[in-house]
Amino acid sequence: MKITSFDPQVIQLPGRSDYTWRSLEVPIGRYVVLRVETDEGIVGLGEAPAILTWGGENQRYSGEDPEIVCHLVNNVIAGKLTGTDPRNVKSALATMDEFVRGFPYTKAMVESALLDITGKAAGVPVYQLLGGAARTLLPVCHSVGIAPPEKAAETARQVVEDGIRHVQIKVPGDPATDLAIVKAIRKAVGDDIKMHPDINRGYKDAKTAINSIKAMAAEADIWAIEQPVEGIDLMTRITTAVDVPVIVDEGCWSPFDAMEIARRNSADILSIYFTKAGGLIRSMEIGAIGRAAGMPVNVNGSLEGGVGNAANLHLSAALEGQVLPGVISINTLKGREQTRIGGVFYVDDVITEPFAYANGCLTVPDAPGLGVELDEDKMKKYRVS
Ligand SMILES: [Mg+2]
Repeated sequence: MKITSFDPQVIQLPGRSDYTWRSLEVPIGRYVVLRVETDEGIVGLGEAPAILTWGGENQRYSGEDPEIVCHLVNNVIAGKLTGTDPRNVKSALATMDEFVRGFPYTKAMVESALLDITGKAAGVPVYQLLGGAARTLLPVCHSVGIAPPEKAAETARQVVEDGIRHVQIKVPGDPATDLAIVKAIRKAVGDDIKMHPDINRGYKDAKTAINSIKAMAAEADIWAIEQPVEGIDLMTRITTAVDVPVIVDEGCWSPFDAMEIARRNSADILSIYFTKAGGLIRSMEIGAIGRAAGMPVNVNGSLEGGVGNAANLHLSAALEGQVLPGVISINTLKGREQTRIGGVFYVDDVITEPFAYANGCLTVPDAPGLGVELDEDKMKKYRVS
């Protein structure tokens, strides 16, 4: 089998609300959907939910946007991979790394499309290519965007009514405001819901972070804290000073990052998604490092459209060891809503079938490949270039 063409298209998914987090500067949902065609008629799908302001701690990685992604695919990667066997995914990864340094979202989109082709050719879902499912039911954690306390609490209450038991809370990184938000949410959802704030690097120094985290743990029973500060040294100080587990997100992109985090004790939990690592295979490597270091992982797919989130679901199913609930979109389709707002970040998507959701959990797709197909009418409707 040989690759014959790459066709990246930019779409804009319609957002549910003004969902946002600290440092986000653009509306979410303007992403690239990729088709990779082969001489045997099998088409692989990939997605790059690329955002220019999302690039790792301390400028360590470059942000990507849809135009950068399309440029790299059309003008560099297509020329190197067209004519090769798409099933040699590790060879494709090595080629991409040789000719393009960095740009993991672009590479993740291409890699997942090649795995989609490989799975379809073999008649197996992608999670089986990764070693099979360690679990098939994936608990959904809903991300509540930055909002005033009463509004955030009302959102969280509705999410819980939709059957979801885990909420991530985006807060601005101002201790008094953060505490007011988490206390309002705790009051609204009761004692049984697991909740954790995501600071998105918002605290500027260690003492501010430590005092704020301790206050939120004492007064709102948060179970963890996500990326409170920027930089591995500060993260180590926080991790060694607070009792609640510290989740690293912006600081953990590659297996090399994960090694350093484990060595320097700069987090307790690794947040993984297929994009940051440059694909599912490298994400599995991070999972292995976490397992070796005694660090649980979670998989976040809050922002992905249906194609990208499918990749995250296969990753969630295949990771070994302790996998904690991550922020996962349920990728609602208009007219086929499964919740009111729980797990919903867009009111429509470009895939033909919604993921199976029940009782706060998604089920990993089990059709061959990623298990999703594109709705061509919706691709036309939401296409921007
Ligand atoms: Mg995060």
